[in-house]
Amino acid sequence: MRIAARVPGLAAAVSNLGEPAAPTPPSGGLSHSPEEITRPLPGGAILARGLVQRVILASPRGYCAGVERAVDTVERALELYGEPVYVRKQIVHNSHVVRELSERGAVFVDSVEDVPEGATLVFSAHGVAPSVRGASEARGLRTIDATCPLVTKVHTQARRYADAGYAIVLIGHAGHEEVEGTTGEAPQAIVLVESVADAEALEPPQAERLAYITQTTLSVDETHAIVDVLRRRFPHIEGPEKEDICYATSNRQWAVKELLGEVELLLVIGSLNSSNSNRLVEVAEATGVPAHLIDDAEAIDDSWFDGVEVVGVTSGASAPERLVQEVCDWFRRRGVPDVAEHGSVYEDVVFKLPPELRRSKRPAAA
Ligand code: SF4
Repeated sequence: MRIAARVPGLAAAVSNLGEPAAPTPPSGGLSHSPEEITRPLPGGAILARGLVQRVILASPRGYCAGVERAVDTVERALELYGEPVYVRKQIVHNSHVVRELSERGAVFVDSVEDVPEGATLVFSAHGVAPSVRGASEARGLRTIDATCPLVTKVHTQARRYADAGYAIVLIGHAGHEEVEGTTGEAPQAIVLVESVADAEALEPPQAERLAYITQTTLSVDETHAIVDVLRRRFPHIEGPEKEDICYATSNRQWAVKELLGEVELLLVIGSLNSSNSNRLVEVAEATGVPAHLIDDAEAIDDSWFDGVEVVGVTSGASAPERLVQEVCDWFRRRGVPDVAEHGSVYEDVVFKLPPELRRSKRPAAA
């Protein structure tokens, strides 16, 4: 695994990255009277309802290595084994990705019991509890594990602490698939903490041997605050050197923070159930910058931009870049002349496909 590297001062206009050329704004820029606001521009563009002059794209944004691997896994399984390939839960939390894979023959199910005996089943990027693996085996399923290696690492930590007799504080969100999977590794030893208030109120089964682990897609700042409380209350608590928040989640939050001094509104492209995308909205709102989580350009509401000149755009780790470019085009069609990229982190993390697929040399089924 290569690590994310930082490169200084990367700032490039994106209008020259193979995208359609931005429509030329009328001379005199964007000092328009109200009646001009909906005037069609040369080339068919429509002037934006507000006075947006600039769109800045956060970098890095979008697909992380774990999502890339999970999507590739389903595509490769379809090539190797043919339709249908069953996937337990959403392979990644993005409605567009799920719909596109469904159209290609993936069948998304909630439970192993929904999969016909002997069929091929992919576990999603968020991981599964050992009981799910057991149920799949009992059903005779051919399983392919697309769990992100960074989630697997947290599962391993949970098992090691539990085997050594520790009580484990899992910092995370109740009901999230990743938390369910991690908890399933040692349900008797794990207690969930979701907030600073939970940490203050925590009464662990034992304080001598106590450790914490975290969900990978949390708010960096909120998690630090929770860990601070745990360390104050339980000075001997053990934990990872850095919390388990993954590189992609922390880099995307960091990139948004860099942007917030320059923008008046942030659009986060991602689905409602995407944890890391929701955290990006919270990062903006915590500094007083309004933010909207949108699945795609169709969800944009013109009224958001009344009086807004500079808009920031980012995307969660499971949102395809195509959706970002469609949002850029939405602004270009409305005459926004300046769509530029901002950022200084370059990611080059790549995860190998699951071993089940690397081993298999079989051609696609007829
Ligand atoms: Fe893995 Fe992080 Fe991506 Fe989740 S967000 S799939 S933990 S790299």
